[in-house]
Amino acid sequence: MKPHVVVLGGNFAGLGSAQKVRELCGESVRITVIDRKNFLLFVPNVPAEVFEGRDPSKTLAMDIPSTLDEDDIGFIQAEIKAIDPDAKRVDFVPNERPGAAPESLSYDYLVVAVGNRLAYDKIEGFAEHGHTVSDFYYGNKLRHFLAHEYKGGPVAIGSARFHQGDGTKDVKLYGGHAFPSAEAACEGPPVETMLSMATWLGQHGKGGPDKITVFTPAALIAEDAGEEVVGKLLGIAGGMGFNYVNEAKDVTRITKDGVELASGKNIEAELKIVFPDWVPHDFMKGLPISDNEGFVVTDVTMRNPKYPNVFAAGDAAAITVPKLGGIGHAQCEIVAKQIAKD
Ligand SMILES: Cc1cc2nc3c(=O)[nH]c(=O)nc-3n(C[C@H](O)[C@H](O)[C@H](O)COP(=O)(O)OP(=O)(O)OC[C@H]3O[C@@H](n4cnc5c(N)ncnc54)[C@H](O)[C@@H]3O)c2cc1C
Repeated sequence: MKPHVVVLGGNFAGLGSAQKVRELCGESVRITVIDRKNFLLFVPNVPAEVFEGRDPSKTLAMDIPSTLDEDDIGFIQAEIKAIDPDAKRVDFVPNERPGAAPESLSYDYLVVAVGNRLAYDKIEGFAEHGHTVSDFYYGNKLRHFLAHEYKGGPVAIGSARFHQGDGTKDVKLYGGHAFPSAEAACEGPPVETMLSMATWLGQHGKGGPDKITVFTPAALIAEDAGEEVVGKLLGIAGGMGFNYVNEAKDVTRITKDGVELASGKNIEAELKIVFPDWVPHDFMKGLPISDNEGFVVTDVTMRNPKYPNVFAAGDAAAITVPKLGGIGHAQCEIVAKQIAKD
């Protein structure tokens, strides 16, 4: 029997891993992908579609099953419930219709690429007063707000605090470099959104950058880009009129009138666009492959040290800091090379 490679998650890291495993292992393995949805959500372009006034669900979804079928990769649409690394088993419930009976799947190799939970539910007042651009639902909600409700008041854009786990403490980086730490999970989106928002304000005759305050929990926004690059960006942005608040620490609450920050500072705003904490899924917590937060522990080859047949790719991996799809994409090839080598 061919070794069975089971890939959990079918978005960037899951789809990429499955395709790379097929490319590098050929027909010597059987591959199955499990995801709760049957389309790839092209997250990075949601802000662009929203500010251009287009429905992102019409332009940014790609069918997963037919894409996988091109490489003879199986697909199961199901909610993943549990992983048992000792029994080499994944428990899932098919989710096409409610009421499906729970099932299990055995694997020889497991690739965990389930991303994280974007924890808007941890931000008090978000549902009533917050906006964001991280999926089709929230993107369309903001699109509607901009078109029909926004009166042209101040805008606050920024991130809640990220809680990085301890899963990288034993990772040895080539060249002895220090492992990055991040106080915000992914700060490209707030920077991109502040620039798009300013363009939108200008195009709609509602003002410009001086209406926008961008905030970060860290000492420096997008600190992973490096002090020199961010310094130049802040110089240009300040010259354009953007307002900047650093060391916000966290988002405490969103109200009708603005954003309350853990630093004690409040930002007055009619429109509040917020990016939350990236939190591991509940079923990832407390597993022998996970760190203290629930991110999957790996070495630099994306392999779990305790369970060498378990790999991680993308946002689910502890080593992926900050949480960027580009990093996950590079990890797909590393995972596939390791499985092919075995
Ligand atoms: C607005 C925005 C803009 C961004 N722009 C960029 C950018 O320009 N460049 C960049 O590199 N990164 C960007 N990112 C980050 C990027 O989107 C993520 O790093 C990337 O999506 C991570 O890919 P992933 O496959 O690891 O996880 P995800 O994309 O989160 O995919 C995880 C998959 O697992 C599935 N899944 C999860 N739990 C279960 C379960 N229990 N059962 C079944 N299926 C499950 C999900 O349905 C999903 O398909 C952006 C993020 C945001 C929010």
